[in-house]
Amino acid sequence: MSRLRTLLLVGAVPLSLIFGLVYGWRFVFAPLLAAVLLSWSIASLRVLVQDARDDDGVPAVQDGPERTVFTCPECATEVLLLYRGTPKAPSHCGQRMTPRTEIVR
Ligand SMILES: [Zn+2]
Repeated sequence: MSRLRTLLLVGAVPLSLIFGLVYGWRFVFAPLLAAVLLSWSIASLRVLVQDARDDDGVPAVQDGPERTVFTCPECATEVLLLYRGTPKAPSHCGQRMTPRTEIVR
């Protein structure tokens, strides 16, 4: 794949030089700018799509009779855990939050 790209670049550089000198540089730089913007846009959208998926390695907390609530020992803020990204408890006010398992009625 990279060999093909190298061959395309080796062929495209003299062609674009000739084309730019004969017809004007805007016909060379406009497609290049369009290609860069298109690839950047596609990469940005790909990141958004991958973030929106649920199956990207972050296990969802199972729906069941129990739920885990984390409480901040400093300010008593409570956080309901929906997705467990890491096994560590989240932090608030610079301290680790205290987990508490509740049974939902
Ligand atoms: Zn806090």
